[in-house]
Amino acid sequence: MKNPYVPFKAVIRGIGQEAGDVKTFLLEPESGFPPGAPGQFNMVGYPGVGEAPVSLSRVPMEDSDLFEHTIRAVGRVTDFLSTFREGDEIFLRGPFGRGWPLNEVKGKHLVLVSGGLGLAPIRPVVQIADKLKARRITLLHGARDPGSVIFKTEFRHWRKKGIDVELTVDEPGKGWRYHTGIVTEIIRRLKIAPAEAVAFICGPEIMMRFAANELFLKDVPGSSVYVSPERRMRCGMGLCGHCQHGVWFVCKDGPVFSYRELRGYPDALF
Ligand SMILES: Cc1cc2nc3c(=O)[nH]c(=O)nc-3n(C[C@H](O)[C@H](O)[C@H](O)COP(=O)(O)OP(=O)(O)OC[C@H]3O[C@@H](n4cnc5c(N)ncnc54)[C@H](O)[C@@H]3O)c2cc1C
Repeated sequence: MKNPYVPFKAVIRGIGQEAGDVKTFLLEPESGFPPGAPGQFNMVGYPGVGEAPVSLSRVPMEDSDLFEHTIRAVGRVTDFLSTFREGDEIFLRGPFGRGWPLNEVKGKHLVLVSGGLGLAPIRPVVQIADKLKARRITLLHGARDPGSVIFKTEFRHWRKKGIDVELTVDEPGKGWRYHTGIVTEIIRRLKIAPAEAVAFICGPEIMMRFAANELFLKDVPGSSVYVSPERRMRCGMGLCGHCQHGVWFVCKDGPVFSYRELRGYPDALF
C-alpha cells in the first residue's frame, strides 16, 4: 500500500464558478487513487503551500473516475487553489473518514438538510439517489442570499429525479421565487413519520444544531440524525489529534456522526 502521507496528483479537467468565492473543480486523479464515498473528504493541496480537508462534492461513478471538489477561498491553501486553471495539477491524499450511512436509508424518508457550502458533501448523496432505494427524499437547502446558492443549475434535474427540493435564503433579492427565512422553519412544516426518517445535515454548526432540534421536536431519534461537523485537521488519519472531539477523531471516526454519538462531550457541538 502506498504511504498515506505521499499525495497523488490530479489534473483539473474543468472548473465551475458556483458563487463569488466558490469554485467546483472536476479532477482526474493519477491511477491508483481510491474512489471516495459520499461524505468522505480528501486532503487537497500543493507542495510548499499546504493542505486543506475538502469533501467530495461528486463521487466517481461506474462510467468515470473523475470526481469533484467544491472549494471556498478563505485562506492560505484555498486562496492558492482558487487561482488554478484547467490542466493544472493539484495534490490529494485520501479519501478519508466515515461518510454518510447510506445503508440506513433503504425504505426510509431521507431528509437532507444543508446550509451554504454544506450542500457540497450532500450532493453526492443526491447524485446516487436512485441507488439508495429510499422511500422518499427531501432536500432542504438554505443560503445567505440567491447569489450564494451553489449548484444552482442542478436543482431542476434533482426535482426531475423525484427529489422534493425546498430552497430558502435569509435575504431574498428581486425575482426570488422560493422560501425566505432559515431552513429550520421548513423542517417545522415538513410532514415526517419519525420512525421512518433518516436525516443527514451539513452546514454551519449553529444551523446543524437547530435543524437537529427541530427534528427531535418531531420525535426523530438522535440515532437517525447524522451531522458532519468541521474541525481543523492536519493528518486526516487520526494520528495528530488536531481534530479530536471528546473520544472521537473527526477525521477518522467521522466526519459524519450520529447525533447520539456526539451528544454529551465536554466540547460538544450540540
Ligand atoms: C471534513 C471537512 C470537510 C470540508 N469540506 C470542505 C469543502 O467541501 N469545501 C470547502 O471549501 N471547505 C471545506 N472544509 C473547510 C476547509 O477545510 C477550510 O476552509 C480550509 O482548511 C481552510 O484552509 P486555508 O489554508 O485556505 O485557510 P486558513 O488560512 O487556514 O484559514 C482561513 C480562515 O478559515 C478558518 N478555518 C480554517 N480551517 C477551518 C476549519 N476547518 N473550520 C473552521 N474554520 C476554519 C481560519 O480560522 C481562518 O479564519 C472542510 C473542512 C473539514 C474539516
